[in-house]
Amino acid sequence: MGGGAPIVVQSMTTTDTRNVKATVRQIIRLAKAGCEIVRVAVPDEEAASVLGAIKSKSPLPLIADVHFHERIALEAIRQGVDGLRINPGNMRQEGIKKVVKAAKERSVPIRIGVNAGSLEKDLQKKYGGPTAAALAESALRNTAFLEEFGFEAIKLSLKASDVPTMIEAYRTIARQTDYPLHLGVTEAGTLVASAIKSAIGIGLLLNEGIGDTIRISITGDPVAEMGVAFGILRALHLRDVGPDIIACPTCGRCEIDLARLVREVEKKLSGRKTPIKIALMGCVVNGPGEAAEADIGIAGGRGMGLLFKKGKSIRKIPEADFVTVLMEEIDRINGQ
Ligand code: SF4
Repeated sequence: MGGGAPIVVQSMTTTDTRNVKATVRQIIRLAKAGCEIVRVAVPDEEAASVLGAIKSKSPLPLIADVHFHERIALEAIRQGVDGLRINPGNMRQEGIKKVVKAAKERSVPIRIGVNAGSLEKDLQKKYGGPTAAALAESALRNTAFLEEFGFEAIKLSLKASDVPTMIEAYRTIARQTDYPLHLGVTEAGTLVASAIKSAIGIGLLLNEGIGDTIRISITGDPVAEMGVAFGILRALHLRDVGPDIIACPTCGRCEIDLARLVREVEKKLSGRKTPIKIALMGCVVNGPGEAAEADIGIAGGRGMGLLFKKGKSIRKIPEADFVTVLMEEIDRINGQ
């Protein structure tokens, strides 16, 4: 990760980490949806004590998210996690020292996760609140602290729920350090609100070449994060992963149930990683022309549709066969 490596998509489980079965089940669902790194909350020693069991069954690298208590972080390292996320703003300096020493011995990278909601009090006072400059100073201060122990396996995040603050904080830190950056808008809300905030905040930064890993924060099932994350990466041509479905908004010319078709195709393709561009258009007037770049598509007519490839019409198919025919063609193109 970092440098010229592809942007990595990360998520976080919402289960009680002490419930190994439920947590592993959610990690597997996330992995199937495309997630590449997973973080679990480690609120107490009981949760820390099961991390090894979770890791042994996890198809994804496991990051332990620890606040306040160094002994929990130390136990997480002992359990063999692949990474640690700490928020230095809420951990004793003596404690951080011990954690860094243990992480160094076991080559466990640490993400310094600065958060506007838990910024060090002196920085809040100095800047009059959790401003972008305050977040950046916190990240730099804690980076320097870890570096004092010869520790450089560091990743940084500077999350805020306010999008302009988050953008400015990452821009500021990107000018001052080469450490990999994990991007996220924190507490971004439910699906639509989060997708908008994340597309603006994370998307803008990625487009400027800032960021190495991303996490979309959505209230609810974390699997929903994957669609937004890969959607942002695809829209910016940063990663060509999974199907890109182009669909028209429909208008008075549309004589098929396009919304249902899009829903069904999306559902059938969910979790697929092979890239393919599919255009689902309401009519033949503009459909094939508007979607000339698509690998495959359908332009609707009255109860039927025109199957087209790369903007060229191939044959007519009845509406009842849309999904079956499309899936057969998609599988053929993707070699499945
Ligand atoms: Fe309307 Fe046809 Fe354009 Fe869809 S493709 S918005 S149905 S004109």
